[in-house]
Amino acid sequence: MNLFEQMKTDGHEQILFGSDPASGLQAIIAIHDTRLGPSLGGCRMWPYPNFDAALTDVLRLSKAMTYKAAMADLPLGGGKSVIWGDPKKEKSEAKLVAFAEQVASLGGRYIVAEDVGIGLADIERIHRVMPHAAGLPEEKGGSGDPSPATAYGVFCGMRAALEERFGEGSFQGRKIAIQGIGKVGYALALLLHKAGAKISVCDMDPERVAAICKVTGADPFLGHEIYRVECDIFAPCALGGFMNERTIPRLSCEIVAGAANNQLENAKAAILLRDRNILYTPDYVLNAGGLINIAEELNGYSKERAYKKIEAIYDRLKEVFALAKKESIPPSEAADRLAEARLAGGRKG
Ligand code: NAD
Repeated sequence: MNLFEQMKTDGHEQILFGSDPASGLQAIIAIHDTRLGPSLGGCRMWPYPNFDAALTDVLRLSKAMTYKAAMADLPLGGGKSVIWGDPKKEKSEAKLVAFAEQVASLGGRYIVAEDVGIGLADIERIHRVMPHAAGLPEEKGGSGDPSPATAYGVFCGMRAALEERFGEGSFQGRKIAIQGIGKVGYALALLLHKAGAKISVCDMDPERVAAICKVTGADPFLGHEIYRVECDIFAPCALGGFMNERTIPRLSCEIVAGAANNQLENAKAAILLRDRNILYTPDYVLNAGGLINIAEELNGYSKERAYKKIEAIYDRLKEVFALAKKESIPPSEAADRLAEARLAGGRKG
């Protein structure tokens, strides 16, 4: 398939290939859909093995942002960017400035935020060149690290999933297994512990496991053992694609609900979960707290207002579960349909 055909199939509006030989910048900015508003999404700096891998990633991620923003009821579209290179060895001020100029050339159709390899300090540097950047450090009046907001959104959404499955949303005495105790997983574990849940955890980093176990009394598990933990909720908070034909048969849970992006390896994974009578909570609806928090910055940031909006993730999941039940479809498909209906409805006001 040539690139134009692919853009047509996936609905991408625009792709910008940015090169600056002086700084060595090679970047791609993909704007997927701006029907609801300007596109917003992170910039990922990563040592992709080749051009195709970078392009595939930015196209996939930008489309996912459209669906996430639509289901979060934000006046934003989906976009994403990648800078090709190793952030540890190849990041430079000149490259960030050249990248900022590429973003500026889009005149606000794309708003850049942080992602893997691009942190708050980088966003601040980019913002000094042009205004279309969000997720600035708190001391600069920005929304800061989005992870606690993401964790709070997951926490609120889990309540909707518990109600759907058990008829009541209390965390008291519920068993929750968290895979990945990174920035989001750690914050989520603290919230769940405070709400009375019994937690099991695993992470590749034993220090992170030890730290959370000390604070919450969580049970530690090694690697794949976490899948077999008998629990009410299995929460994937590590990498994407972990829900597949190999892992789903091992699960011993009622609900899958976590922060990781693109949890389902493919469409078959949604069917496998449904066949095992496991309630899947669509990732991009559940993990939109960070995006909602960053979007608030565009109106002059208020944490109180942002967290109030994040709580509505609970209501959106109720909507998703109701449609899934009504149409006898997996919740992932229900979320896609609801997002597409919002996109078809266009901008409000
Ligand atoms: P992070 O890098 O801080 O944490 C990820 C953790 O997962 C790390 O501690 C890592 O050691 C662990 N891990 C990796 N592979 C593992 C494995 N096989 N088994 C167990 N642990 C493993 O990332 P984060 O910011 O906490 O994000 C977690 C997930 O949530 C990612 O998929 C991310 O894309 C998604 N997400 C994050 C945000 C946010 O605001 N940070 C927002 C939306 C979605």
